[in-house]
Amino acid sequence: MPRIRQENVTAAQWSPNGATLGAIDLTLPDNQVFGANVFSPAEQRQRLPKAVFKQLQSTLEQGEALDSSLADSVALAMKEWALERGATHYAHWFQPLTGLTAEKHDSFYGPTGEGTAIAEFSGKELIQGEPDASSFPTGGLRATFEARGYTAWDPTSPAFILENPNGALLCIPTAFASWTGEALDTKIPLLRSMDALSKSAIRALRLLGDEESQRIFTTVGPEQEYFLIDEQYYFERPDLITTGRTLFGAKPPKGHELDDHYFGSIPERVLAYMLEVELELAKLGVPIKTRHNEVAPAQYEVAPIFENSNVGSDHQQLTMQVLQNVARRYGLVCLLHEKPFAGVNGSGKHNNWSMGTDTGANLLNPGATPHSNLSFLFFCTAVIQAVDKHQGLVRATAAGPGQDHRLGANEAPPAIISVFLGRELETVYAAIEKGEAGEAVPGSFLGLGTDVLPPLPLDGGDRNRTSPFAFTGNKFEFRAIGSTQSVALPNTVLNTIVAEAVDDLAAQLDEALRGGASLEEALPPVLQKSWVEHKKVVFSGDGYSQEWHDEAEQRGLLNLRTTPEALPYFVAEDTVKVFEHYNVLSERELESRYDVFTEQYAVKINIEAETAATIARTLLLPASLRHLTLLKAAGVDALTTETQALVDEFVTAIRALEQVNLKENQEDEPPSVWANFLLDQVIPAMNAVREVADKLEKVVADDLWPLPKYSEILFIK
Ligand code: ADP
Ligand code: MG
Repeated sequence: MPRIRQENVTAAQWSPNGATLGAIDLTLPDNQVFGANVFSPAEQRQRLPKAVFKQLQSTLEQGEALDSSLADSVALAMKEWALERGATHYAHWFQPLTGLTAEKHDSFYGPTGEGTAIAEFSGKELIQGEPDASSFPTGGLRATFEARGYTAWDPTSPAFILENPNGALLCIPTAFASWTGEALDTKIPLLRSMDALSKSAIRALRLLGDEESQRIFTTVGPEQEYFLIDEQYYFERPDLITTGRTLFGAKPPKGHELDDHYFGSIPERVLAYMLEVELELAKLGVPIKTRHNEVAPAQYEVAPIFENSNVGSDHQQLTMQVLQNVARRYGLVCLLHEKPFAGVNGSGKHNNWSMGTDTGANLLNPGATPHSNLSFLFFCTAVIQAVDKHQGLVRATAAGPGQDHRLGANEAPPAIISVFLGRELETVYAAIEKGEAGEAVPGSFLGLGTDVLPPLPLDGGDRNRTSPFAFTGNKFEFRAIGSTQSVALPNTVLNTIVAEAVDDLAAQLDEALRGGASLEEALPPVLQKSWVEHKKVVFSGDGYSQEWHDEAEQRGLLNLRTTPEALPYFVAEDTVKVFEHYNVLSERELESRYDVFTEQYAVKINIEAETAATIARTLLLPASLRHLTLLKAAGVDALTTETQALVDEFVTAIRALEQVNLKENQEDEPPSVWANFLLDQVIPAMNAVREVADKLEKVVADDLWPLPKYSEILFIK
């Protein structure tokens, strides 16, 4: 049986130990710096006893548990390496359910009792930490009286050094769990899901004739959008400081209508910033590849070369952190919020996702031969089936307060989850549906009149920018994720639901093969059945149009416009079933996530509402009243009447907002009750205040208006 076509990517690119080091074709100022602050396999090879290094590598490559006897040896080498680079402290670096990273710093140095200190770092300290974790969100998984959580070394993501002008910190990527072993972070479920999908895919690959691959790795290449603004304006906007977005601000006369920013030349200060970001990330071994202006003024994008999901997800967190830190050195502030400016394009994160074998094949790469296409179609069909079956869950992974200004609002992509395949692939599925595939002789099984499939476009063919989930040539691009979000959970969900679909299709295929059919005979009917059942999720048209919204409803697709509508899918029956089956998250762990995310939504909206009320009453209303006094003094009656009416309206709106803000979260109620109250009552009240404020901004004397305007913030670079 012919092997799946090798792509011109090496296995190292998705090797589990982050061996992307030395990756190809980096447009970096100096390739020597790449990975300089990473305890990379190359560094390990030099510093570890040969036997230890080999043992560590092979455990990592097989994805098996680590022999703890290695730990002391690795810890010693890691410590020496870190001390040489000026590190004084080490930290277990983890990702709690806040969506951010956390680190607790411990000094390497301990006093000797003779007035000196020696540097110590044991295998035990490397492997396990016990942060007092009572203030991390757990969603009820751990009561405060049993506040112990522990962090456990993740040897599959390389340790790195964070530099600071006054010292350096060794960061050890770790998982974070409760004392009872429940996952309190995003890494544990991601690793579990990668294992689950690997098992399922290997089983399927055997049926498809691949006898060699031992493991598959899911891959991720996340594209990050962000805004850069001058920090002067940031400091003058209490809303940006407190909530990350502007709660007020009239639309500027010039927006992105002129399309003069997208891919335009990059202003010098911004370019200098980008170069430094890339340098910092390069030292951390993050393979940044592209940068450009985005659609909105002051909006930019950065994207790495893809890596395995675990390392890629850690690197994504580092990217967000470095983007924000470096900005301050240039008098800039990096805004990661999904919608910092109303009426201006928001920011997202495109999550490019695929599956790669340890032999170097990309399972979502359509090949040049019918056999590789059989395998490709198998996995592609599994993805379509998974996304259709779990639409609500896929949508829920992209939910969050900032996202409600994008998904389901008037912007990319829509809240309806659909899959874009492109014309060529749809033609192939149409043939499969008609059964042409089954009738054809082996070698032309698709019956398209040629010996092989029409060469599928490696470049993704037509590119549909409005689709939330698009096939782009050799990977799927999940485009609905928000710019602030961690990619760990969305990838955990993708891996888990695809594992289920792969197993489902594999079981059917297995049965047919056992009945004596050849692979060419057996597979098309399996694909056909799945396609017919799930093709409703496939859509290639304009995702923003009203027609699509109507059609999607007819097709029975979900349209979950808001976070409170989407989050319950974390605990939906189908979700619990698949997550428990693959041991990725237990029902309790899923419930905890549902609770944490709902609570975070509510807390964030509540902070916005209180900030909006304060700004309106203590900054904007006084300015409006001063302006009114000026008008009265000048005796301009027409304008006085007009402004007085606006001010009256403003006062009413502010008081209404303050009124709803009084309601406190009730301890005995589930967080969803408060979340829905905020959605139904508080957000409309906040919007009403904003509406009047934005009108006032346009009439109040410019020197009286206390907030910098969009036209300044967005256009001064
Ligand atoms: P775009 O037009 O969307 O910018 P690119 O081809 O530049 O498309 O790819 C965007 C991202 O997709 C990059 O981060 C890239 O590393 C990533 N990517 C490419 N191949 C894969 C893959 N097999 N798995 C995951 N991500 C991938
Ligand atoms: Mg993209």
